[in-house]
Amino acid sequence: MHQKPDADAMGSSLGLFHFLSQLGHEPVVISPTNWAEWLKWMPGCGGVIDYEYSTDKAMAVLDQAQWVFCLDFNTLARTRHMANRLRKVSATKILIDHHQQPEVDYFDYGVSDTAKSSTSEMVYDFIVGSGHAGLIDIDIAACLYAGVMTDTGSFRFPGASAAVHRMVAALKDTGLNHTQIHDDLFDNFLENRLRFTGFVLQNRMEIFYEHNAALIAIPWKDLVRYEIKTGDTEGLVNFPLSIQGIKMAALIIDRDEEVKCSFRSKGNFDVNVFARKYFEGGGHVNAAGGRSSDTLEVTVQKFLQALKDNSSQLQ
Ligand code: 5GP
Ligand code: MN
Repeated sequence: MHQKPDADAMGSSLGLFHFLSQLGHEPVVISPTNWAEWLKWMPGCGGVIDYEYSTDKAMAVLDQAQWVFCLDFNTLARTRHMANRLRKVSATKILIDHHQQPEVDYFDYGVSDTAKSSTSEMVYDFIVGSGHAGLIDIDIAACLYAGVMTDTGSFRFPGASAAVHRMVAALKDTGLNHTQIHDDLFDNFLENRLRFTGFVLQNRMEIFYEHNAALIAIPWKDLVRYEIKTGDTEGLVNFPLSIQGIKMAALIIDRDEEVKCSFRSKGNFDVNVFARKYFEGGGHVNAAGGRSSDTLEVTVQKFLQALKDNSSQLQ
């Protein structure tokens, strides 16, 4: 899965893990980095290896592996420090992913489909396609539901197709308690996160009505002051899109080791292209990310210039 995994990266990986375990394989799930507290309820999450924290253990697994499934990312750069190690892996590499422009040379087999709502939906298709739909139990269902629900913005994005709803119906048939999963993912934070959200919306958000766009730029000192941890800023970038007329929102955070950017849009404005062109990133048409090795101030200036250059496409 990709670094700083979200619920789709973790959910698709653990869903596949439970499925392969049932078939008698010995799968091991590796994350390139640590992950958010609010993912830890997922069945099997306790056994996931953090590559940065347990590098030797993860390397030993990679050395022995016959197959490496790469889920919810398609360029090795998304695995951060693990990328160099992955390049040397002799195992058969299989891609299952829904992002644009895969690094096709690296993978031996795979499915890359940007029309899919989530990698979790693709793992579901993979299980059903293999003829083992009957093996989908409540653990697999919980992992895959978390991924498809979050990647579709709780079933509001265009990717929430009829097939997605049929998949959810099948997951419900296993006894899945979807209300519990929403609680675990969205009502499971500490007070500081909500206070931080309030502070940021009040003090760090700028709206550029002339470009139908908004920016939230967060300095490192805010993260320290509010004791912000991995995952605590997820979802922040969506808030400005709730303002009438706003078609693009950016979140730029000084994470000390790098400046991280997130972009979201509504309609035709392609933030994948925007992130690739200006911020060494990528993603999907309406959700993408990137980074900058400049300071926060310089990155913000670059963003403002890029915004002006793209203003006509945002009208
Ligand atoms: P987020 O803003 O939540 O970090 O990322 C939004 C979407 O863009 C996710 O689907 C994520 O996988 C993708 N993404 C984020 N950062 C990058 C990046 O640096 N490169 C590419 N190719 N995709 C990214
Ligand atoms: Mn995904």
